[in-house]
Amino acid sequence: MCRDPTRTTDRYKIQTGGRTVTTDLCDQDAAPIVELMEKIKKVSPGQKTRGMARVATMEEIEALKKARK
Ligand SMILES: [Zn+2]
Repeated sequence: MCRDPTRTTDRYKIQTGGRTVTTDLCDQDAAPIVELMEKIKKVSPGQKTRGMARVATMEEIEALKKARK
């Protein structure tokens, strides 16, 4: 969740294991996830976003974090 109420947020879905967590993030918070989405799109162009929410798995986010170090 974004902790800054002055920022506008978008809703994101994070898949972790069998669960899907929905969270509202501002552009700043979502930057790593958005970056991840772009990478996923390049790797698998067939993958579509579901509805309004963008979807990433926790594993993909962790992999991205490691890649950035
Ligand atoms: Zn934020």
